[in-house]
Order: sequence, then structure tokens, then C-alpha cells
Amino acid sequence: MTTPTACPTDRPPNLAPASGAAHPRLALCGDILYFLRDPGWSEDATGAVRFEPDGWLLIEHGRVHAVRPADDPPDASWARHDWRGHLVLPGFIDPHVHAPQLDVIASFGAALLDWLERYTFPAEARYADAEQSRLGAERFLHALLAHGTTAALVFATVHKTSSDALFKAGRRLGMRLITGKVLMDRNCPADLRDDVAQAERDCVELIERWHGVDRLAYAVTPRFAATSSAEQLAMAGGLLQRYAQRAGGLYMQTHVAENRDEVRWIAELFPDSRSYLDVYAGHGLLTRRSMLAHGIWLDDTDRDRMAQAGSSIAFSPSSNLFLGSGLLDWARAERAGVGVAPASDVGGGTSLCQLRTLADGYKVLALQGQRLTAWQGLYAVTRGAARTLELEHEIGHFAPGTAADVVVWRWAEGAVQQRRQDMARSLHERLFAWMTLADERNVAAVYVGGCKIVPAVQDSAGWNREAAGHLGPAVARPG
Ligand SMILES: [Zn+2]
Repeated sequence: MTTPTACPTDRPPNLAPASGAAHPRLALCGDILYFLRDPGWSEDATGAVRFEPDGWLLIEHGRVHAVRPADDPPDASWARHDWRGHLVLPGFIDPHVHAPQLDVIASFGAALLDWLERYTFPAEARYADAEQSRLGAERFLHALLAHGTTAALVFATVHKTSSDALFKAGRRLGMRLITGKVLMDRNCPADLRDDVAQAERDCVELIERWHGVDRLAYAVTPRFAATSSAEQLAMAGGLLQRYAQRAGGLYMQTHVAENRDEVRWIAELFPDSRSYLDVYAGHGLLTRRSMLAHGIWLDDTDRDRMAQAGSSIAFSPSSNLFLGSGLLDWARAERAGVGVAPASDVGGGTSLCQLRTLADGYKVLALQGQRLTAWQGLYAVTRGAARTLELEHEIGHFAPGTAADVVVWRWAEGAVQQRRQDMARSLHERLFAWMTLADERNVAAVYVGGCKIVPAVQDSAGWNREAAGHLGPAVARPG
């Protein structure tokens, strides 16, 4: 392994692809769309969105150089990739997803606590093996890319080797990846249990090795309050403090108030805490870099506390519907000043594609009288998510100097999508239909740090061959 070097936040991360295959000056031509700021919830996003049909996205040394209109093409020194007739967006960001749970996605018939016992824990136990972790990490990250997501905050398993494998694979791909070893020292099977001292040693080793290296960052990862003792949560809070000055600080990811049985259980386990959220707050786990999944059953005091800390909610509608957990009131969280970022939450969620997350999110909000516009939805999985992760300087839009993490999408895949696109009368109507109907089969190409990625076959089962088939050819098309 290459010896990693420390990387302070004010230094741009190294975007050089491992293969060095990217052309130093690359121009993508297509229907370029990105957000200049939060578009709000109106159908009128004037001033918040930039759309350049048949425009030019100029990429130099892995970073966005400029976006230009169709009538201002670059000179011949720029290699051209012709994606006219395609939608060119910043890569999606997934702020809450479990790498090992690809193995149990779409498992029948259980609510959260039962689902963990029956499916998740047995699947995660396999990642104690370094080779399983390596294969799993590559399978997961390639699948993520094939679904149009180029950056993510990811749960590994309790095993140090599973985080290590994700970091290694993410670094090879040049991805913006944040992950960490799960902390779990009680209420779980023995083969998934750590203890406070060993867990701390493992975390420190992983942090020292990976946090701030290239585009990687470490997330302190207590699974949820039920599976960590108070001592372990205190250790986790101590790590956040100890490394607060290192590369902008560590991230913290966990679950909160997902399901009512779970909320009752936490109240029994922590009788002195005012609420489920208060357990985390009391152990120093709420920071600007804390991402808490679900938050369905929080109250106003909890929301205010999250807002004060600058912590965010990962809204996981696919998972919440699938496990029957409940409906997140996004408007209420936003009114309280809490950042909300849509997340796949695979394997509770049933698709890695953030378009499917948004389509489910629209329905969850519709049941509560709220309407997710295509503007707010697409902002939330790009620039909005980057903002919640303190990464707006690097990803989520196409301002000059940002990393060229780009996904090229087909506007339509199949006759139904095509007919709907043909009938649309406005850009919002077109985008909303696309957000609702499209999925990973619409992905035409993926660029990470300006380097075109073609997910490769990773294991003997050939699992990824199918996904790779959805991506465009590896060769540059004539401009
Ligand atoms: Zn989760």
C-alpha cells in the first residue's frame, strides 16, 4: 500500500485517478444542469439553477474549469466527449448507505429490529474475512457508481478490515468517500461485538491511516444507541474532540428515531436521557459533521438541538416505507433549521439509485401534503447534500475548481419515458418526469475527478457485469 500523507482541508484533495488515464483537458458537450443555490420549494427556480442545453463542461486536471453555452465551444486543445441529447449532472451524493447490506437488499417481511437479527447481522458477520471485505467493497463502490452516485457516507461493518477495504477501493477509484468501522459492544451477536478499548484502538488506527488522505474521511460510526454502551458512546465523542482539528474534523454517522419500538427500547436503555437524540447529545456526538439517519420520531426540542449543533438528517424514504418505519416531515425539520439530505439507506432501502430515493421521497411527502419539486429534489442530492457534509467547495455543482464528478444520463430509456419527455411543456415538467421515471438504466457515463469510470467485473459471480452493461463505451466519442 502507498504510504498516505496527511492532507489539511485547505489543500485541494488529490484528484489524480489511479490509472492516470484522464485527458488533462476534457470538454463534455450535453444538456448541463446544476444549482447555484438552494432553489426552495417553488416550481419557479429562476436564479437558482443553471441549464445549458448542448453546453460545454470544461474539465482540466480533474477539476471543473468552466461551463459555457453551446455557442461558445472550446478550441482544439480540448478532447471532446459528445453527449448531446443527454443530461449532464453533478454526480449524486448518498449521505447514508450500508456497504455490506447490498447482500440483503430486498429481504422479506420484517420491521427494523427483527430485520437486523434475521438478515443484517448474519450478512455483516461475513466481513470479518479480509478477502470478503475486499470483494464486498469493490462490488459496492462499483455498484454505487453504476447507479449515478459518486460520493457517499457509508457504513462498513464492525470489523476494521471492512473499513480498510472501502478506503482502499475508494482511493483507487479517486472517489469522495467517508466511512468508518461500526461501533457495537452490546445487544448484538458475539461475532459482531467489539469492546471499548479494542474499538478505540481500531478507530485510531483507521483515522491515522485514512482521514484526510486524498478524498477520504473518517466517520465515527456507532450503529445506534441500543448497540453501544454509554462507555462506548463516550469514547466515540472523545474521538470527535481529539481529532476536531484534523482535516476539518471527523464525521459522525448513526441512526436515530427510526421506528417506534426502537424509540421505546432506547428509553428503557437510557432512562436518564430526555429523548433518543439526547443520548447522542449527552455523549458529545452532535456536531456540524454529524449525519443522523431517519429522525422520524424526533420532537421539536430534538430538532432545535440538532439545528443548534448543525447536525443533519439523512431522509431515507425507500427504507422507511419498506420497513414500515414512518414518514419524515421534511418541512418541519427545515422550519427548525435542520439540514435534510435524501439517502438510499440500502439495504433497508431497495435501490442504490438516488432517483428512486427521490421518487419515494415525493410520495412520502405527498402523504403529508408536501410536494417535492424536481428542483428541490435534484438540489438535495447534489449541492444540498454537499452542504450538509461541509463539502460544497468540492462537490455537488460545477463551479470552477470543484471536482469533476459528473454523471451523464439518458433523458429517456424505453418508450414510456420517451413519450413522457416528448409531451413535457417546460423544463421542470421534463425534469420531474425524469426524476420520477428514470433509474440506473438511464446512466450513460460516469466521471470521477474527470476520469471516465467503467465499473469492472469484480467477483467470480460476475455480479457487476450487468451493472457495467448500463454504462457507455470506454472510448471517447468524436466531438
Ligand atoms: Zn441505515
